Amino acid sequence: MRHTGTFGRFGGFYVAEPLIPALEELESAWIEARDDPEFAGALAGLLRDYAGRPTPLYRSPALSEELGCAVYLKREDLLHGGAHKTNNTLGQGLLAARMGKTRLIAETGAGQHGVATAMIGARLGLDVKIFMGSLDVARQAPNVQRMKLFGAEVIPIDNGSGSLKDAINEAMRYWTEHIRDTFYVFGTAAGPHPYPSIVRDFQRVIGEEIHAQLHAAHGRGPTAVIACVGGGSNAIGAFARFIDEDTALIGVEPGGHGVDTGKHGATLGAGRAGCLHGSISYVLQDAHGQIHEAHSISAGLDYPGVGPEHAHLMASGRAEYISATDDEALDAFAWLSRREGILPALESSHAIAGARRIADRFGPDDVVVINLSGRGDKDLAHAMAALDAREAAR
Ligand SMILES: *Cc1c(COP(=O)(O)O)cnc(C)c1O
Repeated sequence: MRHTGTFGRFGGFYVAEPLIPALEELESAWIEARDDPEFAGALAGLLRDYAGRPTPLYRSPALSEELGCAVYLKREDLLHGGAHKTNNTLGQGLLAARMGKTRLIAETGAGQHGVATAMIGARLGLDVKIFMGSLDVARQAPNVQRMKLFGAEVIPIDNGSGSLKDAINEAMRYWTEHIRDTFYVFGTAAGPHPYPSIVRDFQRVIGEEIHAQLHAAHGRGPTAVIACVGGGSNAIGAFARFIDEDTALIGVEPGGHGVDTGKHGATLGAGRAGCLHGSISYVLQDAHGQIHEAHSISAGLDYPGVGPEHAHLMASGRAEYISATDDEALDAFAWLSRREGILPALESSHAIAGARRIADRFGPDDVVVINLSGRGDKDLAHAMAALDAREAAR
C-alpha cells in the first residue's frame, strides 16, 4: 500500500492476507484514475447525462421558517436511482471497467446499494452478483426485483443473523477467491483502506456543488452542513469540501427507540473504538466486543459500524454527531411531505429531524444546508404503517 489509509487513530486495513493484493491493486488504480483527466471526464459525463447532476440546491421556505434562518436542501433525492448512492456506484463501476474487471460484487442490506450497483452493471455491461442476508431478501422484495430486472444475481446469505454485516463478510470471502476478474463495489465510506477514501472522493461532488451553488444563490458558503449518518458516505460527501473551512459539520445518527434504550444505531454517539469489516472505527459492541445489531426505523442507517473518517472528525472535535429517534424521523417524514410536497427517505428524515432538534442554535445570519440524501417512495408502506400504529396507540 502507498498509503496507510488512517484518519488519526482510525482506519487502516485489517483483512485476511489474501485480500491485501486486491486492496493494493485497487489503491493503485484509484490513484491513477484520480489524476487522469480522461477518467474524470468520463465520470463527469455520466454523472451529468445519465444520473442528472448537478442536483438542485433548493431553498426551503418551511425549513427556513422552522429554523429561523436560510435553509437549503441539497436534492440528492432527485439523482437517478433516487439517492446519492449512484455517485459512488458509477465511480467504482468505471474504475472496475478501467481495471479490466468483468464482474461487480456488492453487499446490500435494505437493497439500495444492491440496486445502485446492479443499475451501473447494466449500464457498463458488467456481470453483477449481490450478497444479501436472507432475512433482508424476504423483507426487501421490490429491491430484489429491481436488481434482477437489471440483470444481477442476488445471493441470499443464511449465516449469522442473515443481515448486512453477514452479507459483507460473504462478499469479502467471494472476493478473496475471485480477485482476478472481480471488483468489490463497497457501499459506504467504511471498510478497509482504500474504500473510505475512494467512496469519499466519489461522493465529494455533493459538497463541491453545494459550495458553488450556494455562492451563486446566496453569495457565501454555509455556516452549517447537516447530513444523516449510516456508514457515513452521504455525510462525508457533503462535508469534505468544508473540512478546512469554519462551517459547522453535523452528522445525525439513528437514535432508534432512544439511545438510552440500547435499541438504536448511534455508533458514534454510543459505540466504542473497535475493528469491523477491515478497519478501526467506532462500533456498536458489548463489553466483550460482540457486535450489537443496530436498530432503526430506516433500514439504510441500520449498520453497526461507521466510516473511520467520521470517527476521526468526532474525536478531533471537527464535526459533531447528534441523533434523532425513530419518532422524530417519522415526524420529519410527514412534516416535510405536508409542508413542501417533498417525500424524504426515512434516512434523510433523520437529517431533517436533527436540524429541527437543534433549531435554537441558529440565528437569522445562518445559512444551513441539509443533505436530502434520497427520496422516500421506497419507505412509503413502512412509514405509513408506523404512523398508523402510532396513531392507534395514542
Ligand atoms: C444508504 C442510504 C443512506 C445511508 O448511507 P450513508 O453511507 O451513511 O450515506 C442514507 N440515505 C439514503 C437515502 C440511503 O439510501
